[in-house]
Parts: sequence; C-alpha cells; structure tokens
Amino acid sequence: MGKTLPKSVVSSRSEALAVQPGRMVPARIQGALLSIPCPPWCTVDHVEQDVAFVADIYHASDRVSVSAPAMGGGTEDVLEAWLTVYPFAHGPEAAPVVAFDAAGGGEVAELSPEALEAHADQLAAHVKKLRHLARLAAVARTAGGAR
Ligand SMILES: [Zn+2]
Repeated sequence: MGKTLPKSVVSSRSEALAVQPGRMVPARIQGALLSIPCPPWCTVDHVEQDVAFVADIYHASDRVSVSAPAMGGGTEDVLEAWLTVYPFAHGPEAAPVVAFDAAGGGEVAELSPEALEAHADQLAAHVKKLRHLARLAAVARTAGGAR
C-alpha cells in the first residue's frame, strides 16, 4: 500500500474525497454487465468503456491542463494531468497515480503524489522566472531595446 502523506501535503479537499465512500456502478466486460465499486472522483462511464478483461478496468478523474500560446497564434494544451488507478491490477500497478502529459503529445508519465508535489514546486519557481522575463521585456520595450 502507499505511504501516508504528511498532513501538510493533504489538502482539505483530498481529505474530503478520501473519506467519501465509493459507489457501486455498472461496468461492461466483453458485453456483460456487472457491478463494481467506483471512487467519487471517477468520471469514467464504465458501461461505455466495455473492456476485454476485469484487469483492464480503470478509474480516472477529470483532466486538468493549461492552454499555452503556440506558434502562429494558436494554443496548445500542456501539463495535462488526471488521477487514475487500475483497481483490479496487482502489485504496484494497483496504486493510484497521477497521469501527466507534460507536452500534450500523448506521452504520459505516472507520478506519485510526492513526485507531483515536487514537480508543482518546480512549476511555481518557473512561473516566477516567466514573470521576471515579462518585466524585463516591458523594460526593454520602454527603453527601446538594445538597438
Ligand atoms: Zn470509476
């Protein structure tokens, strides 16, 4: 089983989710319906999913991402993340993880809560660097740049 997070890491919202009981929902496996427990954060339609094996059933939360400016004036969704677990897997694969698609290209890393917290700290530091660049650019424009 996973480690217990320090109290400071666990938000009041995640505590609320953790104590909410899961619900029983229908799930389709090779066309047959059965009832499975499903955590409150899961947004998967397990009937529509129709998996081949019980071990293929997964729970997943809503996804979060940020829209980043792209070349040509468009945008790209990056830093996409969602909570997921394969409840009928065995061993380490049975632990919930945060799926993390940094570049929006479909390559997904599976992060522990501790790894995601560490990465979020890096992103917060990066935001400060971005704001510093914005201020430098504003000053450079006011000063006429380095012409
Ligand atoms: Zn579910």
